Amino acid sequence: MKTFEELGVSEAIRRAVEELGYEQPMPVQEEVIPYLLGENNDVIALAQTGTGKTAAYGLPILQKVNPSSRSTQAIVLSPTRELCLQIADDLKDYSRYIDGLYVQAVYGGASIDSQIRALIVATPGRLIDLMNRGVARLDEVQNVVLDEADEMLNMGFSESIDAILAGVPEERNTLLFSATMSKEVEKIAKNYLHDHKEIVVGSRNEGA
Ligand code: AMP
Repeated sequence: MKTFEELGVSEAIRRAVEELGYEQPMPVQEEVIPYLLGENNDVIALAQTGTGKTAAYGLPILQKVNPSSRSTQAIVLSPTRELCLQIADDLKDYSRYIDGLYVQAVYGGASIDSQIRALIVATPGRLIDLMNRGVARLDEVQNVVLDEADEMLNMGFSESIDAILAGVPEERNTLLFSATMSKEVEKIAKNYLHDHKEIVVGSRNEGA
């Protein structure tokens, strides 16, 4: 069993997670964090909510964001407003001691903050809307997380996801988290991930 420090997590982030009472990494974190701290590493992780997946992708992404750059460097896509808010809150907690790093939740109905944020957590439809209006500029995005990818596809976000991924640089990391592996999830992985590592937490669930 490794510590967050042994996984390569920075001092500022370790201080924040320790204050949240995280004593040691959960299994998905132990696998995903050191891998994502490297360069050009795509991941599919089959993990349910409750496994610690938010920190598994969140800690390395926060660590890699450059807070002094004003561009959006990472986006997390999630299916619902509630999940967006939950993820953004978690990421704000984890980045509490990183000066100048801002996390923005973007979902239907929320007022648009025209300020560019380093890290955006968004529902797909709303992000497309902001891209089309020129409010969200994604040409410097280095990390894209598809959280609950199976749910997003079930909710009909397939085309939005295609449009978003077409609008971010090819040279990026793509991280796909899903509770189940369906045909549609496999298709997204095939189209948009490069030489990805597959991580299964608990037992592998096949989609219907
Ligand atoms: P998630 O699967 O991301 O929704 O996380 C499930 C719950 O586990 C959340 O309440 C997290 O705050 C908590 N959590 C995540 N990582 C750890 C950890 N290393 N130690 C203790 N709790 C954690």
